[in-house]
Amino acid sequence: MGAMPADLILHGGPIFGAEGADALAVRCGRIAAVGPAAEVLSLRGPETVLVPLRGRAVLPGFFDAHVHFLRVGLEKTFYVDLSGARSLSQALELLAAGAKARPGEWVVGRAWDESRWPERRYLERADLDRAVPKQPCYAMRVDGHLLVANTLALARCTRPDGELVDRDLGHLREEAAGELVRAARPDRETLVEALAAASRHAAALGITAVADMPGSDHLPLYQAALRRGTLKTRAFLYLPVDLLPSLRALGIEKGFGSPLLAIQGVKVFADGSLGARTAALSSPYRDGKGTGQLLVERARLARLWAEAEEAGLQVAVHAIGDRAIEEVLAAAELARISPSARHRIEHLELPSASQLDRVAALGLLASMQPNFLQWSGPGGMYAERLGPERDAAIDPHREVLARGIPLALGSDGMPMGPLYGIGLALRPPHPPQRLSWTEAVRAYTEGAAYAVGAEKELGTIARGKRADLVVLSDDPARTTPDKLQVDLTFLGGERVYTREGVR
Ligand SMILES: [Zn+2]
Repeated sequence: MGAMPADLILHGGPIFGAEGADALAVRCGRIAAVGPAAEVLSLRGPETVLVPLRGRAVLPGFFDAHVHFLRVGLEKTFYVDLSGARSLSQALELLAAGAKARPGEWVVGRAWDESRWPERRYLERADLDRAVPKQPCYAMRVDGHLLVANTLALARCTRPDGELVDRDLGHLREEAAGELVRAARPDRETLVEALAAASRHAAALGITAVADMPGSDHLPLYQAALRRGTLKTRAFLYLPVDLLPSLRALGIEKGFGSPLLAIQGVKVFADGSLGARTAALSSPYRDGKGTGQLLVERARLARLWAEAEEAGLQVAVHAIGDRAIEEVLAAAELARISPSARHRIEHLELPSASQLDRVAALGLLASMQPNFLQWSGPGGMYAERLGPERDAAIDPHREVLARGIPLALGSDGMPMGPLYGIGLALRPPHPPQRLSWTEAVRAYTEGAAYAVGAEKELGTIARGKRADLVVLSDDPARTTPDKLQVDLTFLGGERVYTREGVR
């Protein structure tokens, strides 16, 4: 039997991770050959699509190891995006304009970040009442851990004032925000379309797979997008931990699903965020009261861990502050977790050196977000919250790799964008955060695939693997990462993105 001709051949540029190769062939959605163009082009047939690279580099499709995909989509289609606001008053102008555009309806602002504003303070109820007086309106901080509501929206909150609820300021933290978020939820059609928008946006960024931390009711939306053919991103889901009993009852194990949509396990919160001062620290915030909040204690987490492991599910634990990380490690030790289960710590922002040693010893994986370095360095939000010493130790990607801890990089959707995150990891404010181009790309591809147990199918360019590929605008060896763009994205050999004006 002679070799079947290839469906697609990319030739004439460096192939990431394949020394000496400058071409690859794809057949039936998988990589059929990687090697010198002279050899690979012999697989050409009359129907083969040829893509001349002209020196541009090919990378494995990026794999964002931590996103909130529906939120990313809604930011494109439904929310009033406040991430670009350069001042508090500009954020209010955007909300007022959003209210005019949808009279009588909820106005939902997302991704405000007071650390970028000259006013340097949180939005408050009185601000929103001025900007949006006649409609219910809330605006979520960039980290998703602090919501500010106007008076009309606040009427929907039934919780009494307390640690998480401040009616005067209109501030709702963590789970106290849930009622309002649900009340303002758009209809199903808008939600399914938002997932499609997230997938299109991902393809434009070179992302072919994501580990998503969805809400408990997102699975039907994913299935609708899958049926419609609008899901062009492989999605690996870590569902809210309250669904663990249901998953166990059904006997769903990690990897259940299809090549485009799989359930991996559950997500647990051990603390909040630094921006909202809810990340649990061992010593107080520099610019506010308290040491943050532990959202789970070790005995409960140990129990969850044991149950999930027995059910064949992964646990992804959100832990940012050193006090939360301590609780997570103690729970892992208590539960005697198995390294082969590949449980994950999400964010892992402020571990001590000895905590990192324990992460390595326990066989836990590190799922980190180099784009968070946008808040590190002198004058940044992290230094303000933590002081310069803790800022210099935050997000220690280099220390993680040095201990052999498997590293998966992602964005948490703040914003999604692997090249942006990698650029920050290459030139960070502090040396412990520094990665090389090769290390950063591997963590954003192979490392993320390993973290969902899909490294045999995804994450590198090798024969037999799925043809999830990105063609960059240039060869990173001859330019700086900030000049690189995504030219083409392929999912299973299918072209899902072409940059305008590019062939
Ligand atoms: Zn997250």
